[in-house]
Amino acid sequence: NAASPLLSVRGVETYYGNIIALRGVDLDVHVGEIVTLIGANGAGKSTLMMTICGSPQARTGSVTFDGTDITRMPTHEIMRMAIAQSPEGRRIFPRMTVLENLQMGAGVTDLSHFDEDLQKVYELFPVLKARRNQRGGTLSGGEQQMLAIGRALMSRPRLLLLDEPSLGLAPLVVKQIFAAIAELNRTEGLTVFLVEQNAFHALKLAHRGYVMVNGSITMNGTGAELLAREEVRAAYLEGG
Ligand code: ATP
Repeated sequence: NAASPLLSVRGVETYYGNIIALRGVDLDVHVGEIVTLIGANGAGKSTLMMTICGSPQARTGSVTFDGTDITRMPTHEIMRMAIAQSPEGRRIFPRMTVLENLQMGAGVTDLSHFDEDLQKVYELFPVLKARRNQRGGTLSGGEQQMLAIGRALMSRPRLLLLDEPSLGLAPLVVKQIFAAIAELNRTEGLTVFLVEQNAFHALKLAHRGYVMVNGSITMNGTGAELLAREEVRAAYLEGG
């Protein structure tokens, strides 16, 4: 893809106090791509996701979205630039119903396409329609993840950020969720940046992938290329 990337991360260093968590990260996501970042526990994947969202901010380097430097922008402004996040641990509103959670995702500014978007989410995850009047907190883990993704979609994001959508879910549910992401990308051209410990599924789904070790990107390539690499297989696939 020769066009300029939708999301561009350049030389990003992020610290927690004096401790460095990201050591000069470069990464691009182009329009229409699914890009995944894989890596072991504590590699810095969530930190990169959070840095893209502006909290914590990068100490050096830059994050650019659609040509705009968002490195020092407050999180709520970054979210307003049509980036939607489905955070690790799926922070849905447990006491609100499924429908109310989806309404929260849509925001309040432009409701002209609310019904249309709601129907799309219901088609993607029929269980959410069946349970639309049930409180979010009473859903299963997989259903809550579907709700978190559905809520993110309601804001019509140009970039969907997913932080470990498979975390703690049964294999069948993981398959379902990844199939839904693939379908959104295929039918709507949705651009997705996905952070995953579940390297096998993530690399199968993604057009391109990056591997993070100890705060640095050590490899990148197409999903298929990375799946075929011995280092990737040994570290992230076999026995995992
Ligand atoms: P996981 O999959 O376990 O979430 P990860 O790849 O997302 O791992 P991060 O959560 O980004 O990794 O953590 C990267 C490093 O930064 C780790 O060494 C972690 O201990 C450290 N870290 C994360 N959050 C904080 C924090 N709030 N304060 C201090 N150190 C932190």
